Amino acid sequence: MVITIANQKGGVGKTTSSVNLAAAFSFLGYKTLLVDMDPQANSTVSFIDPQGIRFSIFDFLEGSDVSFEEVLQKTDINNLSILPASISLAKLESKLISEIDGHFRLKDKIDSVKYKYDFIIIDTPPTLGMITINSLVAASHLLIPIQASYFALEGTDDLLETFEKVRARSNPDLTILGVVITLYDKRTVIAKDSESHIQKLFGDKVFKTYISRNVRLEESPAYKESIFTFAPNSKGASEYRQLAEEIVKHA
Ligand code: ADP
Ligand code: MG
Repeated sequence: MVITIANQKGGVGKTTSSVNLAAAFSFLGYKTLLVDMDPQANSTVSFIDPQGIRFSIFDFLEGSDVSFEEVLQKTDINNLSILPASISLAKLESKLISEIDGHFRLKDKIDSVKYKYDFIIIDTPPTLGMITINSLVAASHLLIPIQASYFALEGTDDLLETFEKVRARSNPDLTILGVVITLYDKRTVIAKDSESHIQKLFGDKVFKTYISRNVRLEESPAYKESIFTFAPNSKGASEYRQLAEEIVKHA
């Protein structure tokens, strides 16, 4: 299963979900690859020291002969490896636009290593440009994190339109895995309101598991840990574990 986590709104929990779902699958015993497609490299630095990175995913995708193995980094978690990003990835947007196979670059690369993993998770930047399109073309499934807030659904039209375009042209099998409600605070009226809007729009595509606002989730990246070792008894840990189990059931 290749899961792209996308929403062109920033700060909705794409990276937090990528990092902790990847860790959750690994701890459940699945061989997992986390692919960081965001030039901001937040997923990467959540696990590894960027100083130690010689090649990043940009080198792997831009067409030079840097191999998968040369880019691949192990993490402290058994079963979990990462294709790290760096700021150089920002150059990929303009590079791919002018190339005939521009939409397929990541897919071509991922397809040849897919057999090694049970789950591949792709984290994306807060845009709907070539990098996100590449991530959608390479995926079997799209997971959309939506923050339970007043402007929750702002921009989802554009995301769904991009999803449909990718399905129509480049990746007809792409499926919406689900929508996960993030940064949820059940004590607030706004959370309840936006929850019902999200439910109305996405119906049974909304995961039963919600991710609550939990400060532990915010803290763990600074220690290069996922929530499961940083705060194993936190709400964040139990909710991301539960979300991973929901996805496994689906898979
Ligand atoms: P995105 O990748 O969509 O931009 P992030 O995952 O980086 O979003 O989250 C944005 C900010 O909110 C980060 O500082 C992150 O630590 C924090 N955050 C994300 N999810 C939660 C949560 N459930 N509870 C508390 N803080 C969170
Ligand atoms: Mg992010």
